[in-house]
Order: sequence, then C-alpha cells, then structure tokens
Amino acid sequence: MTGKPAIFFDRDGTLIVETGYLHEPDKVELIPGAGEAVSRLAKDGFELFIVTNQAGIGRGYYTEEQMHATNSCVCEKFSNFGVTFRKIYFAPEAPNQPSRNRKPSPQMILDAQADFSINLKDSYMVGDKALDIECGNNAGVKMSVLVRTGYGQEHESQLSQVHQPFIVVDTLNEFANIALDKAK
Ligand SMILES: [Mg+2]
Repeated sequence: MTGKPAIFFDRDGTLIVETGYLHEPDKVELIPGAGEAVSRLAKDGFELFIVTNQAGIGRGYYTEEQMHATNSCVCEKFSNFGVTFRKIYFAPEAPNQPSRNRKPSPQMILDAQADFSINLKDSYMVGDKALDIECGNNAGVKMSVLVRTGYGQEHESQLSQVHQPFIVVDTLNEFANIALDKAK
C-alpha cells in the first residue's frame, strides 16, 4: 500500500496538560518532554495530525474561535521544537449531540487519510482515553497507544473492555522509541 505514515495525536492530556475544557491560549502548557518526542517522530518522516474532541463548544463553555486561538498557541509551542502539525481535526459537538467526527468515530482519521494520502497501516493513534484507542482501532491504524498522562492512568483500567490491539506507554518519548524502532 502506498501513502505516508502518520501519527494522530489527541490534544488535551496527550500533547498538552489537561486542565478541563482548556480554551485560554495563555494556559497552554506542553506535557514535559512532548516537544522533544514529537520532534523525533517528525524528523523520521511521520506526518503529524491532531484529532480532538472539543465538547466544550457544544456545551457552550467556549467558542470555536477560542479553540482555534488555543490551537494556534499549541502549534506555536511545538514549532519551537521544529514540529509542524499538518492539520488539526476537531469535533465540536457535546456527547449527546449528533456528530460525524466525535471520537470514537474514526472519521477524523479517515478524512486525513483521504486529504493527505496517509497509509493507515503504517500509522498510529495516541491518546489518554479509551475513546482514543477505540477511534484508532475503528480507523484501522497499525497500533493505538494509550499514554499514561492526562486521564491515561484512569482510563487504563477501561482498556480491558477493548478487544483490539493497543499498547500502553508512560510518555510520548517511550512511544517514539517504539514507533521509530518499528518504522525501520
Ligand atoms: Mg485527551
């Protein structure tokens, strides 16, 4: 199969510190080591995407514009590490609202596959919740990865319900070690 390999990252609790419905750019804080880890993956040729549920918009806690401003700050902080995210896909709906994209739907990953010629069989989904793992598996990525930051430790116990392949890592750097080894 042709196409480029990609890493799909959840945003809150995975790339940046989870603070609960974060929507203020000046509160964006990278998870320690995340910039360096994602930089290693970028240098190896992975395309990088963020796929994020933003139910705070659907719940009326903040606006789409505030989310975009927050995302810009996330991208700026990662650019200090030479990292560029190809695109940020988001689902603004609350859990009780109909949604095409909201994880665990694989739709955001499938859109990226179509938009950027991604080979999902060489790609990874990384997040801190069980729904991130389900999203990756629903899309058919090579491996879904739970990271023990954000809600990761809490959600690890829920993963016994997921009867599909996944791995659990402590940090994005540990994930990068795995992805870069397997990429060879
Ligand atoms: Mg998260």
